[in-house]
Amino acid sequence: MSYTNRSDGMHYEGMCIRPPSEANSILLQATVGCSHNKCSFCGTYKDKRFRIKDDDIILSDILFASRYMRGIKRLFIMDGDALIIPYRRLTWILDRIKEHLPWVTRVGVYANTKGIKLKSPEELVHLKELGLGIVYMGIETGDDQTLTAIRKGADFDRMLEMGKKVKAAGIKLSVTVLLGIAGKERSLIHAKETGRLLSEIDPDYVGALTLMIMPGTTLADDLSTATFELPDNYGLLMELREMIAYTTLSKGLFFSNHASNYLPVKIRYPEGKEKALQLIDMALDGKVSLRPEWMRAL
Ligand code: SF4
Repeated sequence: MSYTNRSDGMHYEGMCIRPPSEANSILLQATVGCSHNKCSFCGTYKDKRFRIKDDDIILSDILFASRYMRGIKRLFIMDGDALIIPYRRLTWILDRIKEHLPWVTRVGVYANTKGIKLKSPEELVHLKELGLGIVYMGIETGDDQTLTAIRKGADFDRMLEMGKKVKAAGIKLSVTVLLGIAGKERSLIHAKETGRLLSEIDPDYVGALTLMIMPGTTLADDLSTATFELPDNYGLLMELREMIAYTTLSKGLFFSNHASNYLPVKIRYPEGKEKALQLIDMALDGKVSLRPEWMRAL
């Protein structure tokens, strides 16, 4: 899931993250770090100062991929929120990808609400025409109080507006939500509000991850001072159950099969919802075993 300073031609800097579904993609690091870099639970880019890499480095990596990654149909632009790249530069990158990697059929990026807001609806449509096929957006929760607490930089309404904007451009939208992020006290409010937000955005994919506390983050400090309390396994399962129960998607896929989760679930909405709820109820009754702690990882 991460690369550190590979020296085989691609200019990767530091730890690089990509979505699990981009495991086999060409990974092009066009930005370093995250332009927001303030979320209380996230330590991924703490050691990186955000910047967009020089065009000649980006082009050199595209040319390297054109020689050694022939036939790989998907490409993911890293790091944390590459959609923040200004429109003109992004079109230049997508044009170079088309020119030198004509076999690539889908380009993906991580995006936060700011990166989406800075693009007009017409620009998003044009980016789609140039190959941008999927946007991954971390919404984490639909609970406004929690969104403020974790310093996500957007509230329910902004998440909704930006999620819909991506979809309206015809770009696939994959969102992640975080089980446990609201702590013990607001767990079920988080589940309900997140279900409401997911239902309104109606994304193509939802990935539910379980919060793993990263050392050095504000949230780790809050945990050590007992300002923040994680729900236990039972509480996290209840949270997942409520989130699924409050979520209605027209045809999206809901995954909670990430390695961080205690119970892997994959639901094709709308028909798979009831079966998934039954499975979670069985797990809550102790009739289905959970993933042991040592097998969980980010
Ligand atoms: S926007 Fe994403 S990458 Fe940036 S700090 Fe928040 S969680 Fe981390």
